[in-house]
Amino acid sequence: MPRHPDRQLERMSQPVAARLLSASRTAVLVAGSVEQHGGHLPLGTDAFAAMSIAERVAERLDTAAVSLGPVGVAHYHLGWAGTLSLRPDTMRAVLVDVAESLTRAGVERVIVVNWHEGNSSTLRGAADEAQRRFGLRIVVAETHVITHGKHPEEMEFTHAGSMETAAVLAYEPGLVHLEHATEASDRAAGEVAHGLYRRPDVYPVMADFHVVAPTGWYGRPELADAGRAEQIAEEVADYVVARATEIFAALEASGHGPTVPMNGGEPVGHGARAQ
Ligand SMILES: [Zn+2]
Repeated sequence: MPRHPDRQLERMSQPVAARLLSASRTAVLVAGSVEQHGGHLPLGTDAFAAMSIAERVAERLDTAAVSLGPVGVAHYHLGWAGTLSLRPDTMRAVLVDVAESLTRAGVERVIVVNWHEGNSSTLRGAADEAQRRFGLRIVVAETHVITHGKHPEEMEFTHAGSMETAAVLAYEPGLVHLEHATEASDRAAGEVAHGLYRRPDVYPVMADFHVVAPTGWYGRPELADAGRAEQIAEEVADYVVARATEIFAALEASGHGPTVPMNGGEPVGHGARAQ
């Protein structure tokens, strides 16, 4: 099985990255997490899952995938040693600073590829600040939500179950070790408890993941298959590109596109507001 495309900005030379960013005027930001996923998946599961999709998206748009770093906002997993977490303000500052750097390379449109629920509110706030300060247009793709939504039975929205195992298989199969799985928590109870935090109307805020899974994880990692994982990652990347392209086009057609000034000069956006 081929590894996903090699599109990480820091693996490129400067001239190559500069050319891709200025020609596409688009960058793909990558947001993950480093947190416990039982004994069978690596701590960086969410970081690898996000990078796997982001590089596929970047390949389709002929640009670079720009990591915000592997660590996300995951304080509610800190009860398991080895988990790392950023304060939301730290992650927000990183995104805003990276976005500013990208505008210097001619980037006007940013797609944030996220694979971690704990990052979502921070990413939204950071994107809002970057848009207001630099004139970029940013869309956020919640790729774990997309993956589950496309295949709800097969890609279970648990923690360290079939969906996340598949995501690691699509990144680097050698990182999955089902033979080292620690004890799973009860799946039905985990789904009910986790579901409360995912309600769109009235919901609690996660303080400690033990409330969902006392052993740290639940789900059925054994259902994941490397071949299917690859297909689904490709399908999710296609979806992100299609939706983001549609959204950017609609914003620009209605005069609400980017207004990034180049080198402090005149704005070079495509919308009516840039005229
Ligand atoms: Zn995860």
